[in-house]
Amino acid sequence: MLVRFWGVRGSIPVSGADYARYGGDTACVELRTANDDVVVVDAGSGIRRLGSRLIEEGRKDLIMLFTHVHLDHILGFPFFRPLYQEGTHLLIFDCPMAQGDMHTLLSTMMAPPFFPIPLGDVKARVTHSQACAMEGEITISSMEVRSIPLSHPNLGLGYKFTEKDKTFVFLTDNELGHHHRGGATYKEYVEFCRDADLLVHDSEFTKDEYRQTKSWGHSTYTEALRLAQDAGVASFGLYHHNQDRSDHALDDMVEHCRQIVAADGGGPECFAVYQDQEITL
Ligand SMILES: [Zn+2]
Ligand SMILES: [Zn+2]
Repeated sequence: MLVRFWGVRGSIPVSGADYARYGGDTACVELRTANDDVVVVDAGSGIRRLGSRLIEEGRKDLIMLFTHVHLDHILGFPFFRPLYQEGTHLLIFDCPMAQGDMHTLLSTMMAPPFFPIPLGDVKARVTHSQACAMEGEITISSMEVRSIPLSHPNLGLGYKFTEKDKTFVFLTDNELGHHHRGGATYKEYVEFCRDADLLVHDSEFTKDEYRQTKSWGHSTYTEALRLAQDAGVASFGLYHHNQDRSDHALDDMVEHCRQIVAADGGGPECFAVYQDQEITL
């Protein structure tokens, strides 16, 4: 599978010279399966550019999943141009959200006075699959997909995508240092990530910042690294970069992760995910 990151920032889009390398758009990940299907995870501001790319390519059949509906993960949805194209079919896998079904949630965000074009008026055909269960595995295109509840305010889901013996785990907005109601235990996250080829995990805070931000729903990058180490993953990507984190500060976090891994005598390859990064598994 090909994994492409259209947005890597948390909370709010940012712009400016300090963010030029890692990028300022919020969460949106595209997966291209071995069957050549397009699966989009989250609709943060990064989905705007993805939409233009899909129209250029003439893609009409699209699949979507959501981790949760905090604003940074849905704010790009109304600006996803394929929605306004005749002939587009958007199939949304309604993995169970604590707040209700995705159609109602997305309709609410696009209803006046928040947005001028109601979801019911878009040209695309939007359908929903209820196949996604909290427990167990579903098949999407040529991938097996498993979900796990996030430790996050208002809940959410993390996903594990497996195709041709390669595994990508996406756990954004997951706080390892605090148990939110409904979230999994640390041990369960370790098992979920076990031996993954790639783990992309919320790494929003430094240890110092976390003294102020504990229980806000996000992890420190050192806790996320520990999960990557305990689960024996091959590659660990820091994700959900704080809106105030400059490129240089992210470089420092990556460097620190690499030092920890080296001091431990080996472990995952560490990097901070950047906007437009493509990883083939
Ligand atoms: Zn977020
Ligand atoms: Zn969130």
